[in-house]
Amino acid sequence: MKRESLLDYSTTTTFDLAVIGGGATGAGIAWDAASRGLATLLVERDDFGHGTSSRSTKLIHGGVRYLAQGRLGLVREALHERRWLLANAATYVHPLTFAIPLAGIGQTLKYRGGLALYDLLAGGSPLPRASLLSNAELVRELPGLRGGFTRAVRYTDAQFDDTRLLLGVLSRAATHGAVVLNYTAATGFLKRTPGQIRGIQVLDRETGRTHEIAARLVINAAGPDVDTVARLDQPAAPLQLTLSRGSHVVVARKFWPSDSALLMPDTPDGRVMFAIPWHDRVLLGTTDVPTSDSAVPRPSSAEVDFILDIAARYLAQAPRRADILSTFAGLRPLAHGDRGPATATTSREHRITIAESGLVSITGGKWTTFRCMAADCVDTALRHHGVAAPPSRTVNDTIPDRVNLYPPRFADPAAPDERLPTFDVALSIGATCQPQAVVRAVRGEMARHVEDVLARRTRMLFLDARAAMTAAPAVAAIIARELGHSNAWEARELKSFAAVAATFLPQP
Ligand SMILES: Cc1cc2nc3c(=O)[nH]c(=O)nc-3n(C[C@H](O)[C@H](O)[C@H](O)COP(=O)(O)OP(=O)(O)OC[C@H]3O[C@@H](n4cnc5c(N)ncnc54)[C@H](O)[C@@H]3O)c2cc1C
Repeated sequence: MKRESLLDYSTTTTFDLAVIGGGATGAGIAWDAASRGLATLLVERDDFGHGTSSRSTKLIHGGVRYLAQGRLGLVREALHERRWLLANAATYVHPLTFAIPLAGIGQTLKYRGGLALYDLLAGGSPLPRASLLSNAELVRELPGLRGGFTRAVRYTDAQFDDTRLLLGVLSRAATHGAVVLNYTAATGFLKRTPGQIRGIQVLDRETGRTHEIAARLVINAAGPDVDTVARLDQPAAPLQLTLSRGSHVVVARKFWPSDSALLMPDTPDGRVMFAIPWHDRVLLGTTDVPTSDSAVPRPSSAEVDFILDIAARYLAQAPRRADILSTFAGLRPLAHGDRGPATATTSREHRITIAESGLVSITGGKWTTFRCMAADCVDTALRHHGVAAPPSRTVNDTIPDRVNLYPPRFADPAAPDERLPTFDVALSIGATCQPQAVVRAVRGEMARHVEDVLARRTRMLFLDARAAMTAAPAVAAIIARELGHSNAWEARELKSFAAVAATFLPQP
């Protein structure tokens, strides 16, 4: 099966609904719409999950911090979704225990009481309820914690791999018939008089060719670029977004050897910070820095220092700059709130707007709530345009563990798992990225570039940027062999991957 034939098909059909943006929000919408029986298209400018959706803290949670802000509706909804994801996307989401070290009776009362409410809001959750750790349990279960803490409270939330879940959701959308295309940017809108949208103009970034695709409804789910896309429709469209950068640092497991994650409750900016076991490494973060630039961000030197400083207050063995294996940042595409300019208190709830042309835009939300955001967005679009369709069905659906992004009617007789080539030892890349996985990523998961494989089909770039650089030539060779690219293509790929990988190392 070729990506090109999906694009050819798209230019000769009329879709019921087209989604712009292949992050969590767009993927959820494509899945929701396709499972209602709507002919659905999703276009992504870069690779699926290239934006914020690969750069999250990887928690499926209600948000202990939102609880402190009194946002009980948001917390309840997210905890409900946590339960759904643990049951229906079990390959990608698993329970994770968190410990909060406590200083003094005030903090103990605050967190013990808050987490009792968290459990209450979770309804009949099967996860263990929060409890206080005795001193002996604290010493035994939190071996990486710095001395001086005598109390901690333990609670359970969930962790996931963001890009693997994203591919699972897109795969489910494709099973329901959706066409999903990466490296296909929306560059304009097709209109009928008087100014109503009847489709999108796209640029195939692989060939440089522009195409027109007809669609009855168009949804703008472009994350941090929602305003840019809205202005392709109306150059003077009001700005809908507030952006905030959140950065993470990844270090070796020895710095936090516990199986539980750590929530560090005291930070100078009033946020909490996490140390989270992730794929045999530890993820530290995150920050919250207002920004107006929607380009993919990089952690600043000051943010890296901030994260390391806080870690040093809680970890027995504090990591230093030289210990950093990888560092990455994402942009929170927050809907403009009415709570003032400070992004830490701007709403995480989503917002849906509809332009005069009929373009539906969605902003805000969280990864955790992507399923109900999608249902709400598709309902709103259908209602506004007077299109009849069944109600959302995703609550009764499951996310498959094997990914195939090609709809069944385009099925390839050589399914991704069949006729896998064998490799000689020279092409063995390491435990986290086997050669066979690269082939599957190209055949079934639409990986087109070295970065797609090393950043989002596997997580090597996020886990260890230098190791990813070492693996890059072998990955490039396999992709070239699968897609029939030349040696010159491989050389160009390696150059551009080296430039990207350098941004995953700390700035001086
Ligand atoms: C640091 C950080 C940590 C977070 N941690 C968590 C967490 O632990 N748990 C949680 O629930 N939530 C978390 N979130 C929130 C969550 O990650 C976001 O809400 C979610 O990923 C946003 O997804 P999105 O699809 O709206 O945006 P994106 O993922 O940015 O997707 C938008 C996509 O649109 C594409 N696009 C842009 N323009 C065009 C165009 N013209 N044509 C085609 N495509 C286009 C972009 O390339 C991009 O891939 C975190 C956010 C940040 C920043």
